[in-house]
Amino acid sequence: MSKNILITGGAGFIGCHVVKLFVNRYPAYKIVNLDCLTYAGNLENLKDIEHAENYFFEKVNILNAEELMRVFEQYQITDVIHLAAESHVDRSISYPLAFVQTNVIGTVNLLNVCKQTWQSLEQHLFYHISTDEVYGSLGESGYFLETTPYDPQSPYSASKASSDHFVRAYTNTYGMNTVISNCSNNYGPNQFPEKLIPLCIHNIRNNKPLPIYGKGENIRDWLFVEDHAKAIDLIFHRGKSGETYNIGGFNEWKNIDIVRLICDKMDEKLGRAAGTSKQLITFVKDRAGHDMRYAIDAHKIKQELGWEPSLQFEEGISKTIDWYMEHEAWLNNVTSGGYQKYYEEHYEER
Ligand code: NAD
Repeated sequence: MSKNILITGGAGFIGCHVVKLFVNRYPAYKIVNLDCLTYAGNLENLKDIEHAENYFFEKVNILNAEELMRVFEQYQITDVIHLAAESHVDRSISYPLAFVQTNVIGTVNLLNVCKQTWQSLEQHLFYHISTDEVYGSLGESGYFLETTPYDPQSPYSASKASSDHFVRAYTNTYGMNTVISNCSNNYGPNQFPEKLIPLCIHNIRNNKPLPIYGKGENIRDWLFVEDHAKAIDLIFHRGKSGETYNIGGFNEWKNIDIVRLICDKMDEKLGRAAGTSKQLITFVKDRAGHDMRYAIDAHKIKQELGWEPSLQFEEGISKTIDWYMEHEAWLNNVTSGGYQKYYEEHYEER
């Protein structure tokens, strides 16, 4: 069946991989990428498919209901995959209101436009992409299940939890057909270098300190971004209405161990003596309210939809480093200007 799918946030890190996968795999679908191009959105991420016949781009803010209505009517949108968000925890600590605006109000705005535009709500799907951070922080043991109560700790996770609640409320109240997935930390090509893995790659290349929060003991589960995009594809097509799916890599790492792994691999790739990059590791004051451990139990999606991660972490890290080494212009472009100022304010005053 032909579909006209609106993908929001398609110029960002995860969104661009989802857009590329859908455009290439489903030539009969019309894919409309709606993105207002914040510092995190970059159309260069979509160069491979920008001329595809089934791909369209609209520079629109999800806060603008009038423009959303126009896009829905112009393309006769049948389904939404919603990724547009403010996504960086550190920024949410400095600017919480921006996260309420985009993540909460923007999501409700989009839900309202769907409700107003779609004639029979059950024939359309609103798919919300969310995070495992809504579940809060774990101790040394245990895993987040789909039934784990929400306990968000940062302004970012509180805003995502709130938007998840609104999505469920639109199902309960108006009968909207929705699905939510909560995924662990993604890594891979095209990630903005404020996040741990690309930040380390970029700084090692430039012989700059590698700022590590606290003692680097915090644990995260990591998933290669293309595996996340494949899970989104499966859930979009075969997920059950009203359900939540946790997506994870079965791959827990302490931050410091990831940084050491990247240092070793970069020394090798750059032909530097073993141990050179590790000298750049610099411990900085911990992030306020830093969650200790996230770990996803992704058995539901494995059992019900047959999804599992395809890439081993060390292989994924190598692939990621290679991508950043081959895309120096991309990296220089996104790290110039505004980001430079943010970086200096954020790390260099500590
Ligand atoms: P990102 O910051 O790289 O990209 C976000 C995109 O949304 C950008 O292209 C930006 O321009 C766009 N955007 C922001 N505000 C907008 C607005 N008001 N209107 C229109 N477009 C706007 O984020 P990401 O890492 O790709 O994350 C995408 C989604 O996945 C987010 O909802 C995030 O919460 C979720 N998620 C991310 C991760 C992760 O590890 N990165 C893990 C789980 C879930």
